[in-house]
Amino acid sequence: MSLDSHMEKVLWTQDQILDRVTQIASQITRDFNAAPDPPLFVGVATGALLFFSDLVRRIQLPLSLDLVRAQSYGSGTLSNGAPSVCLDLKLDVKGKHVVLVEDIVDTGCTLSCLIAHLEAKGVSSVSICAFLDKPTRRKVPIKLVGDGKFYKGFECPDYFVVGYGMDFAELYRNLPYIGVLKPEHYK
Ligand code: 5GP
Ligand code: MG
Ligand code: MG
Repeated sequence: MSLDSHMEKVLWTQDQILDRVTQIASQITRDFNAAPDPPLFVGVATGALLFFSDLVRRIQLPLSLDLVRAQSYGSGTLSNGAPSVCLDLKLDVKGKHVVLVEDIVDTGCTLSCLIAHLEAKGVSSVSICAFLDKPTRRKVPIKLVGDGKFYKGFECPDYFVVGYGMDFAELYRNLPYIGVLKPEHYK
């Protein structure tokens, strides 16, 4: 059975995604152009990896890359409670201007945990760049650090979406678009 046939509907096509990523990258390039030090872009594994790689190659600035991993979701569509950092950064972030790159902000618990983690390491600022945002489901407000900004791709309706890095039970991350699965595949 083909991958596409698992989808109930497509919310954003590959073209729509890449157009929006190009716009965000231009905005970030403008915003960080005058910064004295190169920013550090930190991708939140695994979900953000496709967005992260499309985004950073469109940013026209010297910058560094690192990854972090936080665990908050089990294999299904519901959170398994308070997230924690389970793979830490490789680079020293003290005094750095960090841009945390996420696939989607839902309750805000994961990003809040990661922001607190970075703040404790003495970063100068934390900006957030999330491809999708579900603001109606927020439980914890996103508190930026220093003069950090919040960049987002699109507001997401209250569906459990897959594709463009986002999984259901570790499948569907490789879809180049974002959509909703047919009910029989959420099992
Ligand atoms: P939060 O901690 O903000 O509730 O959730 C953040 C993480 O939950 C995201 O980084 C993502 O991994 C997962 N998540 C939240 N909503 C969705 C969704 O609609 N689809 C998928 N695949 N993952 C989601
Ligand atoms: Mg994520
Ligand atoms: Mg997941």
